[in-house]
Amino acid sequence: MTISTVKKDQLKQKYAEERDKRLRADGNEQYLELKGQLSHYLEDPYVEVKAREPKNDHVTVAFIGGGFAGLVTGARLAEQDITDVRILDKGGDFGGTWYWNRYPGAMCDTASFVYMPLLEETGHMPSEKYTHAPEILSHCQRIGHQYHLYDKALFHTQVTHLKWDEGNSRWSIKTNRGDDFTAQFVAIGTGPLHIPKLPGIPGLEDFKGHSFHTSRWDYDYTGGNPDGAPLDNLKDKRVAIIGTGATSVQCVPALAEGCKTLYVCQRTPSSVDVRANKNTDPEWFKEMATEGWQKRWLENFTLNQTGGAVEEDLVQDGWTDLARRVRSKINELPPEDRGNPLKMLAAYEDSDFEKMEEIRNRVDTLVGDEQTAQDLKAWYRQLCKRPCFHDEYLQAFNEASAILLDTEGQGVERITEKGFVVLGKEYEVDCIIYASGFEVGTTLVRRTGFETIGRDGLSLSNYWEEGMKSIHGINVHNFPNAFFVQPTQGANLISNIPHNIVESSQTIAMMIKHAIDNKAKTIEVSKQAEKDWVDLLLTGAGMMLGSLDCTPGYYNNEGQAPSPASKLNVGYPAGAAAYFKYIDEWRNTGDFKGIEFS
Ligand code: NDP
Repeated sequence: MTISTVKKDQLKQKYAEERDKRLRADGNEQYLELKGQLSHYLEDPYVEVKAREPKNDHVTVAFIGGGFAGLVTGARLAEQDITDVRILDKGGDFGGTWYWNRYPGAMCDTASFVYMPLLEETGHMPSEKYTHAPEILSHCQRIGHQYHLYDKALFHTQVTHLKWDEGNSRWSIKTNRGDDFTAQFVAIGTGPLHIPKLPGIPGLEDFKGHSFHTSRWDYDYTGGNPDGAPLDNLKDKRVAIIGTGATSVQCVPALAEGCKTLYVCQRTPSSVDVRANKNTDPEWFKEMATEGWQKRWLENFTLNQTGGAVEEDLVQDGWTDLARRVRSKINELPPEDRGNPLKMLAAYEDSDFEKMEEIRNRVDTLVGDEQTAQDLKAWYRQLCKRPCFHDEYLQAFNEASAILLDTEGQGVERITEKGFVVLGKEYEVDCIIYASGFEVGTTLVRRTGFETIGRDGLSLSNYWEEGMKSIHGINVHNFPNAFFVQPTQGANLISNIPHNIVESSQTIAMMIKHAIDNKAKTIEVSKQAEKDWVDLLLTGAGMMLGSLDCTPGYYNNEGQAPSPASKLNVGYPAGAAAYFKYIDEWRNTGDFKGIEFS
């Protein structure tokens, strides 16, 4: 498909109009924090909180967060014979996002073979290309058991205090469960999206029916279960789901099937491309999964996804398709234009217009009602919002029960005692499900629930006031023996967060092992090495996501100008694949250049 210049101009204008409809002066402030009267939305519906004695001891490593980051770091430490590791999590088990998100239809959106960590180490074969949530949660538990991480773990535990004790070269940790213990090393992997938020719709507290957030799914109310049993209790219920992001896209098909009436309240449509999920053929897997297979797949996905020179595409999904198309457009340029940023940008734009036209045309082929199909079309560049992939979402609107209520970009107007109002009309419902996402643009302390206090009482918030400073996104000067497990200032590979985690955890385990072997009490990045790393990061092109001409969302700070500090939320200038190669060499030299062990 080639798109004419006239058509491109029309599309650009349409995109701008649609963005303008949605811009709001209150940006991130439009959302409600779940505290006070709203704090019940945070309660754990899955595992009962059990009484336990507080801990007043010392451990070698404490890890805050029991999702993939904590689990993989725990596993990598265990491989180095470091087993005195205590993982803390506010949930009732391991799993992180997969502990909380048990809504019907939940599954990974990046292929399981590269998304699920430690597949080779655990010998697990993902049952599907995009595995469903219960299997991912079980996999988390499998890692926990295999590496004995349950022995010392503390669940339903929220860290409230984290302070460096210079005299004793250790961290002091306190929690909401009365724990007061110390750790020589502390690592933090709390994940980017874990504090549910509610839309600031007037009247939200007036509703007299039932309501919950998707990350606290109430199966007692809906019936069914995360394994896909039908939501039987809803067959005589009128239900509204507010939000049409990646979560809603996954749970709408089950709701449409289960409810008497389902209102899907849409402010901005998601772009929903083909997912083509399929069961894994065990024979194929057996043949393919030779030694080192997962590392090969990870590297191949990253190379494909980030525009590397690679022939084979092992994963073959929407993410790699996106990158392949851009690459082929650039290859169509005359050789003299291939290094020209403006020409390359134009090639990228062309590829994006084509892709989005295909995605919009796909809606027409799958949705019977013309108006509904029109309303489901996304008018923005694909990476303005989290791209979605699904084989049943669009089709769900052909069910008699499912009604799309497009709000013309304005959102739900009001919640009432009996239901909600869209474009001046009230709809009565028994239940409102908030698929309204998670806090992103709020402060780190608000999202983690604790401040990190380093040397001389310096808080991390203070140290990072003008932007994040680190080496590799892992070590921070003035915060000895602390490690951060997250993508920023490292590979910054957004399409597959676990790959960042797998690499960082290996780096951390090797540093801690080195310190222990050499009887070093502290590990700290030198001020100069941290500065050099940050300077290097600033030579890059910056973050691709977050453009202000995009429709508002959490990728672009809800359409508000980014804070100056956010210019440091970037990755390795040469790209993710180059970063992974670099960090592997860096840690394997054994001298950990830039890090001081003392
Ligand atoms: P999102 O933040 O993506 O979506 C929230 C939704 O709520 C949006 O559609 C938003 O509309 C809508 N909304 C907010 N306020 C209102 C309002 N006042 N009236 C009506 N609608 C409103 O949250 P999700 O939970 O869907 O996804 C969050 C992230 O979690 C994803 O981007 C993805 O990174 C991750 N995720 C990953 C999955 C996977 O890998 N399998 C599955 C699910 C989520 P608007 O767009 O206009 O702001």
